[in-house]
Amino acid sequence: MMNLIFIGPPGAGKGTQAKLVEDRLSIIQISTGDILRAAVAKGSDLGKKAKEYMDAGDLVPDSVVIGIIAERIKEPDCEKGFILDGFPRTMEQARALDEILSAEGLDIHHVVEFVVPEDELVKRLLGRAEQEGRADDNIDSIKNRLKVFNEKTMPVTGYYKDTNKLRKIDGTGTVAEISSRVQAVLGH
Ligand code: ADP
Repeated sequence: MMNLIFIGPPGAGKGTQAKLVEDRLSIIQISTGDILRAAVAKGSDLGKKAKEYMDAGDLVPDSVVIGIIAERIKEPDCEKGFILDGFPRTMEQARALDEILSAEGLDIHHVVEFVVPEDELVKRLLGRAEQEGRADDNIDSIKNRLKVFNEKTMPVTGYYKDTNKLRKIDGTGTVAEISSRVQAVLGH
């Protein structure tokens, strides 16, 4: 069993790499962004609550995403392990995750941080805006998401550094190059 956290700014390529690891190691990718976007598309109560925050590039309230994760990791498909992609993003989420995991008798093995310079991130996100047309890939939302990452999520990387679980990798280059860096830190 291997439980992972992928952390990094918007546009760092966490989702792309999480999918590759999911296929290679048969562990499940859990993307809070994907779960929230599916809820918005469905128009569920959760989606209605989340939409405005997401479009503005603000974080959805901690209590909402913590509840999603608490339920999701109990599902049977998480038995072989999971990759948390986009969670935790705040210190409050990180502390809540510790409690959820210890209640389940689980642990995190590696926290992989994807490091990408900010000008490269903006370029990637604007490119994605043209291709996929995601509602939050506009310049105002992108700027805000980068600011929120620096203020709220960077402290979370420090938290995992103190537990010796943080594995920083260079998130620039080709998908294959980044994938081999991920494999190197995971040991497979
Ligand atoms: P990106 O990292 O490219 O911004 P994500 O798909 O990870 O994209 O997240 C999209 C949006 O979903 C975020 O801007 C935020 O509004 C919301 N979101 C996702 N994960 C979380 C989380 N852990 N806490 C709060 N909000 C979240």
